[in-house]
Amino acid sequence: MVKGAPLNLAAMPGSPQAAELVRAQQELRFSPAMEAEYVRTHLLGSRLLIRVTCVLAAVLSIARAVEQTAAGFPVGGPAAALAVVTIASVLLASLAWSSAFERHFLPVARVIVPIRNVVVAGCITAAAAEGQREMLMILPVLLFGPFFFLGLSYRTALFTGVLTAVSFVVHATLAGLALPVALRAITFLLIALAGCALAARHLERLSRTTFLETRLISQLAQHDTLTGTKNRRVFDEHLARLWPQAVTEGRTIAIVLIDVDHFKAYNDCYGHQAGDVTLRRIAECLQSLVRGPLDVLSRYGGEEFVAMLYDVDTDQAVALADRVRRGVHELGMEHRGSRTSATITISVGVAVIEPSAARTPRGALQLADQALYAAKVGGRNRVRVMNETDYGMLVTGVFDKQPGAARA
Ligand code: GH3
Ligand code: MG
Ligand code: MG
Repeated sequence: MVKGAPLNLAAMPGSPQAAELVRAQQELRFSPAMEAEYVRTHLLGSRLLIRVTCVLAAVLSIARAVEQTAAGFPVGGPAAALAVVTIASVLLASLAWSSAFERHFLPVARVIVPIRNVVVAGCITAAAAEGQREMLMILPVLLFGPFFFLGLSYRTALFTGVLTAVSFVVHATLAGLALPVALRAITFLLIALAGCALAARHLERLSRTTFLETRLISQLAQHDTLTGTKNRRVFDEHLARLWPQAVTEGRTIAIVLIDVDHFKAYNDCYGHQAGDVTLRRIAECLQSLVRGPLDVLSRYGGEEFVAMLYDVDTDQAVALADRVRRGVHELGMEHRGSRTSATITISVGVAVIEPSAARTPRGALQLADQALYAAKVGGRNRVRVMNETDYGMLVTGVFDKQPGAARA
């Protein structure tokens, strides 16, 4: 996002991303569905970092275990601590590299990482109490993983950092670490904790803002700003993508072309802004054409909309088209300028095609356009359909306009 050119969020009604940008910046938490999407995106984006970090941690803990065992087989508490840290590190590394990464890494890491930090802080403190004071330098380093390298949220990392500090204080007291040494160590640890927390909070806010802005921009690039329906580019791409799929699967594609009747007269009568409101209401009504992710409705331009329905027969397509036609009529929006109805109506052209390699999406659209033309000249506020038999008029998928068939 270009700095100094803030998005006008007020101009994006209905956008969940815009709402989150306005509302939840300080909280570092989105609404549940978007939070889940953010966490997943963040996790996948950090996958390589997480994997490398987990492997390094596992290698270090195994090396420490080998070193300790070589120095004399540990027993009791130290042996248990060594086992916990090694098993936890190997488990996290295996999970990071497994196919279960996406689903299970974070829930497991949220539990294991704080426990591992508590145990490692205890081991370091015990070693320092036995004379290895240089080990205390490692304490602040224990914070880096949770805050920056393991894909954990700021909150989980802060919780882990606080537990690490508490573990140090408890173990230092139990092990009788000299007070000046303990005070120096906890001071460094707390300074590191504050620094990591500030930096991680800042980074998480940046990452959340980038996440929202990226999605918002992609949403703006896909939708018509007036009606909120998909724009024409999305429709064209969707149709081009599903056409070969329909050829392979032997499914039909229906193109439903919708045009508002006498809309110029409506604008002339009620004003352009009232026209805009009416277009939005019509678009809402047309949304019911879309039955699932393979269907798409878009504003095709001006007061025209187009829907692509995947795998419908002619009867189904006509029934769906007629339902929205009636729906718009029943909105009962007064239209004094219309010569054919007292209220707003639409005309609908439907083309039901069985795509083949020789036919093109462009031909299907032209067939629907021809059907729409027939609905217009037939009196408007009606549905007309063209299908396989009419497709004979299309030469290699390109519609040959019949003489005299120009639009009124
Ligand atoms: P027909 O029944 O034959 O379709 O007549 P029509 O008047 O609807 O068709 P025509 O193509 O002559 O006019 C379309 C009108 O749609 C003209 C234009 O002012 C209006 N229009 C196109 N886009 C918008 C828009 O975004 N907002 C508003 N308010 N009007 C629009
Ligand atoms: Mg038109
Ligand atoms: Mg029109």
